Amino acid sequence: MAEVRLENVTKSFGKLTVIPDISLTVPDKSFTVLVGPSGCGKSTLLRLIAGLERPTSGTIRIGGDDVTDDEPSKRGISMVFQSYALYPHMSVARNIDFGLRISNMPTEEREKRLAEAARILALEDYLDRKPSELSGGQRQRVAIGRSIVRNPKVFLFDEPLSNLDAALRTQMRVELAELHHSIDSTMIYVTHDQVEAMTLADQIVVMNKGRIEQIGSPMDLYDTPASVFVAGFIGSPK
Ligand code: ADP
Ligand code: MG
Repeated sequence: MAEVRLENVTKSFGKLTVIPDISLTVPDKSFTVLVGPSGCGKSTLLRLIAGLERPTSGTIRIGGDDVTDDEPSKRGISMVFQSYALYPHMSVARNIDFGLRISNMPTEEREKRLAEAARILALEDYLDRKPSELSGGQRQRVAIGRSIVRNPKVFLFDEPLSNLDAALRTQMRVELAELHHSIDSTMIYVTHDQVEAMTLADQIVVMNKGRIEQIGSPMDLYDTPASVFVAGFIGSPK
């Protein structure tokens, strides 16, 4: 059970209040997509959930537990970024299971998780290659593989496809939807691509200036946008 809840969370950097007061429930196993203009606080919100930033005030719960003061490694969360750095000198397999090796996981369990991630991501035939021998989409899959092997309760994605070309983005979108079906995790996904949001989301959260403008299913937002801002955002061409 990995519902994520933010209760009256605020975040300021010095005098700049980026998130004035957000309360949000991300249901267990949902695919929740955060959208909103650049600078509205999407990455900050993910970083707060991951524990990479601490809220100025408010409470963050994962699976009901108050994790507000927990270290990132204690939260059962994994984050995939837009710019993912793979280790160039290591094989795909070592890139994926590196985190498990340094945590001294028993070999048998580590190999099981690596094989499972490779299967889910269709990387079985590439495990011995170096990152430089992969396509952009395959590299991004390796980055996602690193997260999968850690068995997180919650996946956070910060615009993971925005460096890929349009054809690859379409393919990865399909793969992410399949990933969500094959591993029962809660996913919180930031994008500024409406098509991505509309096709992937169970629930879309539209943010503006650190506040939530509207939350709903893709159809709710499309049919009954709560404000001109939402209508403009959902309806605007890419
Ligand atoms: P988004 O991901 O929606 O583009 P961000 O969460 O990255 O937005 O940023 C929201 C605002 O917070 C921006 O004005 C940004 O400059 C500011 N901000 C983010 N991180 C920091 C930081 N560590 N120190 C100061 N300001 C920050
Ligand atoms: Mg961002």
